[in-house]
Amino acid sequence: MSLFAINAIYKASEGEGVHIGTPQVFVRFQGCNIGCVNCDSIDTWDFDAGERLTLDQVLAQVIEQGGDKFKRVSITGGDPLHPKLLPQVLQLVSVLKKKGYWVNVEAAGTRVVSELFDAIDFISFDYKTPCTKVKTNLSLVAKLATQFPNKFQIKSVIESRIDFDDVVQAKNELHSMLVNASVDTTFPWVLTPAFNLGESMPFERVLDVIAWNENEAQGFRVITQQHKILHGSEKKKV
Ligand code: SF4
Repeated sequence: MSLFAINAIYKASEGEGVHIGTPQVFVRFQGCNIGCVNCDSIDTWDFDAGERLTLDQVLAQVIEQGGDKFKRVSITGGDPLHPKLLPQVLQLVSVLKKKGYWVNVEAAGTRVVSELFDAIDFISFDYKTPCTKVKTNLSLVAKLATQFPNKFQIKSVIESRIDFDDVVQAKNELHSMLVNASVDTTFPWVLTPAFNLGESMPFERVLDVIAWNENEAQGFRVITQQHKILHGSEKKKV
């Protein structure tokens, strides 16, 4: 029997992105080798750490956390799309969908997995900015926009003007790539002002990002990480 590599399963309100404030159960998988330098979940990196649970144990915890009220699950990580974890994620999604759950997957921006994305309700896909020291291939965002319209958001962490200029350039490039294909490029692209581990609420940075966005009128949405404002930058399972 295959076991699931789990970092944590818990109920919390979504803290960022377009579904901010919505209560749901998070299933956080264990394992990631992407290596964002400003990662706030380094405890999820080691593929051998965390718990090993059966599918029934994972489902029991989801039901225990969400009860009948929250049939909403966000699968996150770690990197739930990593080939080591993907078979487990596909198995879990299949059962959750049969049970009537709404399912979001947090994708790190390194892979588009059509089999998974077809099966879920929403895709939160990272476009990595220079502050992460990881690069997202823009053709993956183009593929997402082409194959999964109205079913995804792009999220980008903005630490400085360099990151903001990078997403503006990326959006313009994407528009040029897709304009002849008649693909809608008005999907939600969320700018998340960086709120790094150990920092207190970075008001100035948030205000800067809001001002850049207002001045440039590029159609991004600036949404801060609510859970970090409320609980601090280091608290887990919130
Ligand atoms: S993809 Fe997510 S978990 Fe992995 S290093 Fe980047 S921020 Fe951390």
